[in-house]
Amino acid sequence: MVGRAETARLIAVTSAASPPPVRRPALFLDRDGVLNEDRGYVHRWADFSWIPGAKAAIVAFNRAGWLVFVVTNQSGVGRGYYSEADVLRLHEMMADALLEAGGRVDAFYYCPHHPDAAEPRYRHPDPPDRKPNPGMLLRAMAEWPVDVARSLMVGDKDGDLEAGRRAGVRSLRFEGGNLLEFLGPELPKLTSGDD
Ligand SMILES: [Mg+2]
Repeated sequence: MVGRAETARLIAVTSAASPPPVRRPALFLDRDGVLNEDRGYVHRWADFSWIPGAKAAIVAFNRAGWLVFVVTNQSGVGRGYYSEADVLRLHEMMADALLEAGGRVDAFYYCPHHPDAAEPRYRHPDPPDRKPNPGMLLRAMAEWPVDVARSLMVGDKDGDLEAGRRAGVRSLRFEGGNLLEFLGPELPKLTSGDD
């Protein structure tokens, strides 16, 4: 039988033996308009086209040791245009395509809520996860060992940049073109800061 003092000692030894996880910078990516062409409420794989360099950019940040997250407003769910199952299925297809390219998104966060949602369960006057609110980024930071000071948010809309700013993350606007070329200049910084 293990007494209370012994239990306390065991806990102390256990915590001493497991140091806190090493914090890593995170790349927060808006989805529509950054990873795929924004055709409006994209929810079918048949309508999904990768932005040039998007998969390669994710692979490059994976290799550099960054966490990679997708943070996407999906009010189409709340508006009744498609379901959460559709969103999850699309994200699975993205993950499969990335895997083939040697890449990985560590977690997909999406916000189905909207002030005008048809279904009450998706209706909220100011959904905390809906960008420009920073809820999805804050959740990722709570769930993963994120080095916030070295992290980066990339979006194509004002709301993306504001969400990043409010989460304390440096934010860049992607206005189209090749995502790897756009983000390439960020990679050496991180490699040199990673020692
Ligand atoms: Mg967008």
